[in-house]
Amino acid sequence: MQQRVYNFNPGPATLPLPVLEQVQRELLNYKDKGMSVMEISHRSKDFEEIIFEAESLVKELLGLGEDYQVLFLQGGASLQFAMVPLNFLSEGTIADYILTGHFAEKAYKEAAKIGKANIAASSKDTNYDRIVNMDEIRLSCSPAYVHITSNNTVYGTQWKVFPDFGDIPLVADMSSDIMSRPFDVSKFDLIYAGAQKNLGPAGVTLVIIRKNMLEKVPENMPSMLRYDVLAEKRSLYNTPPCFNIYVVNLVLKWVKENGGLEAMKERNEEKASHIYEAIDNSGGFYKGHAQKEYRSVMNVTFRLPNEDLEKLFVKEAAENGLVGLKGHRSVGGIRASIYNAMSKEGCLALAEFMNDFVKKHG
Ligand SMILES: *Cc1c(COP(=O)(O)O)cnc(C)c1O
Repeated sequence: MQQRVYNFNPGPATLPLPVLEQVQRELLNYKDKGMSVMEISHRSKDFEEIIFEAESLVKELLGLGEDYQVLFLQGGASLQFAMVPLNFLSEGTIADYILTGHFAEKAYKEAAKIGKANIAASSKDTNYDRIVNMDEIRLSCSPAYVHITSNNTVYGTQWKVFPDFGDIPLVADMSSDIMSRPFDVSKFDLIYAGAQKNLGPAGVTLVIIRKNMLEKVPENMPSMLRYDVLAEKRSLYNTPPCFNIYVVNLVLKWVKENGGLEAMKERNEEKASHIYEAIDNSGGFYKGHAQKEYRSVMNVTFRLPNEDLEKLFVKEAAENGLVGLKGHRSVGGIRASIYNAMSKEGCLALAEFMNDFVKKHG
């Protein structure tokens, strides 16, 4: 078998090797049951153990109190773009969206189809190279909620300090930086994250919801779209994505064994600093997309002097075992996604490759 590469893909993304190895060991015969996790009943004790352990690890790692419910749903973060307004943007109310990137825009557009949505602030005018300032935010009169995107996967920017709007419910898409750093969860009323960046395989979405939000869900909606129904059944209203939840549980255990969110933050900041240093010390050869104070610790985005060099960079990097570096079409250039599971060695290897590439082509 070819050696494993350093995988900088934005999502689905690299997973911790010890997790993959455990999945492999347990694949044919989970806990002496003579079958795999894919084959056991979602109503069995064995699966309940898995899903409830994952639930309690999310609570433990984030320091969630009893006033929050943890859910494992399907449909990706993209279904949450619609579910949030379907559940909370009722007739006669308005929701405020802060646009800081590609997925924030998508979330806003879905809400605008369902009800009244307002753009409370946007950094589109500078091609989303920054997070908006607090004094730019123009909220509506008592909005149903405010929606933010904690880390902008495509543009490589990240909220460093979360906003606080008092009693107005705060909703956040944390798909690309959940579990990468500690933060004050009590500021948020709903958090969602597709698993395929920081949590596990695609196909399961983590939702954390404050229980008092569940009372606001309208009656006239399909059960599968209702947070209150899904919460009442503890994510077991229908057959959940069992295998994916099993892998998420292993990833959460890995996060815990590796020191939890404080340790993740420290490690992630160091990892990112090596790549940002290579950008900043390149004499202008590499140009970072994000303004420095908003630089993401999860997605590092930069351009080279021209597109031919960018293509060559991606090609030569791949030949050196560094894959998945092509940027999103709306930014172009290069994007290195360095979620929790990317090792420091991977980031150092990329930084070294970048330095060599400047020497050769700069
Ligand atoms: C990847 C991503 C999404 C889309 O997630 P899906 O699970 O594919 O729907 C949404 N928001 C952010 C911030 C992302 O990084």
